Amino acid sequence: MDRTALDAAYAAAVKYLESAGERPVGSGMTAEAMRDALGGPLPEEGEPAARVVEELARRADPGIVATAGPRFFGFVIGGSLPAAVGADWLTSAWDQNAGLFVLSPAAAVAEETVLAWLTGLLGLPEGTGMGFVTGGQMANTTCLAAARQAVLARAGWDVAARGLWNAPQVTVLAGDEAHVTVYGALRLLGMGDASVTDVAVDAQGRMVPDALRAALRGVTGPAIVCAQAGNVNTGAFDPLDEITAIAREKRAWVHVDGAFGLWAAASARHRPLIKGVENADSWATDAHKWLNVPYDSGLAFVRDTGAHRAAMLRTAAYLQRSEPDAGRDNYEWTPEFSRRARGFSVYAALKSLGRKGVEAMIDRCCDHARLFARLLEKAPGVTIANDVVLNQVLVRFERPGEDGDRWTREVISRIQRDGTCWASGTVWKARALLRISVCGWNTTEDDVRRSVASILAAHDR
Ligand SMILES: *Cc1c(COP(=O)(O)O)cnc(C)c1O
Repeated sequence: MDRTALDAAYAAAVKYLESAGERPVGSGMTAEAMRDALGGPLPEEGEPAARVVEELARRADPGIVATAGPRFFGFVIGGSLPAAVGADWLTSAWDQNAGLFVLSPAAAVAEETVLAWLTGLLGLPEGTGMGFVTGGQMANTTCLAAARQAVLARAGWDVAARGLWNAPQVTVLAGDEAHVTVYGALRLLGMGDASVTDVAVDAQGRMVPDALRAALRGVTGPAIVCAQAGNVNTGAFDPLDEITAIAREKRAWVHVDGAFGLWAAASARHRPLIKGVENADSWATDAHKWLNVPYDSGLAFVRDTGAHRAAMLRTAAYLQRSEPDAGRDNYEWTPEFSRRARGFSVYAALKSLGRKGVEAMIDRCCDHARLFARLLEKAPGVTIANDVVLNQVLVRFERPGEDGDRWTREVISRIQRDGTCWASGTVWKARALLRISVCGWNTTEDDVRRSVASILAAHDR
């Protein structure tokens, strides 16, 4: 075996990770410059593997964004824990197809173990099933496919067999600030945007229980409520306790999009935010966000394992399935068939942190978010636009004689150009804001202070 390509990859990866904390966080590369570096015609003849890897590392480098570093605060994205990166390297080397037990007993049991650990850590009901998917988008899709299956089955309709044509109408309700991927999932499932009833939210973006009660009043048939744990702007949580109680009266399925917020359940301090989460029917989350494992790693949890499997069911004579209960055939829980063995990285991340380590990481990120808010709001012309309850901070910049939206956008672009840290803008309640998300396992208090200095310098100049 020629190990030179792997040696080259190892050297380049370690060099990169060791410098990720000091390089400019964003990349200023244009698409054109990147095409010059990585474009061109497909070569007629092949090149030695090690040279290909070395050259890729060198040419791609200026276009690499330091999301793995400690001062990336954009898009609710975490980095990757060393144990998770190590396990991910092995996952690639092993090249397991994690669809079937027979193709990788190790991958199947690693995922089974992770499922048991996570139901405990996240406070989900015992016996809940889970599929490992690419991310929050597919986790929402998988959960809502199970939801559609279950609520229509109760109405006497097998949607897996008969499809949606002529099916009883499903009422779908979602908070006004539901994540776009919930709508993306519903579209794929034949329940387009117009079929969703928007439920009013409060000043922090939380679904208003009375509004949900009113929206469900006339509903008698199959219904799905899409709730949210962790608003992508404010970090706020829908009141799951009340929402699940209201939904239960109507036998409506409650799905929780907890792409990052579900991890609050792992923290004693933050668990009250997510009270009632165990009363929902399905939960979507990401391991590649707050658990800090490499992409692609989403998790789709469904309480009703029968509906989950019925929604995903595919059978073929050539599939060598394991005996019932003998081992997990992962493809039964996901829309995918052949699949990367994502469980190894999640397993390694959880094992390297332990329960206490996950809790400490969540609490630390939230403490950093509060520190950001405290330091920034002292400066003249700077206001914090949300209640900082989790890891999200929304910041508004104003200066005399200047339009606030324009000035906030200008400050954001200066912050990004400076490169000390990286965060992006959002528009929330019709105002332009800087959105800071703290999700990284390696962010320190010093990183927060350095970032605040850069942000305030951008505002002062
Ligand atoms: C990030 C996010 C998603 C989408 O997750 P992906 O992993 O990017 O597919 C869905 N919902 C919420 C609330 C999110 O923050």
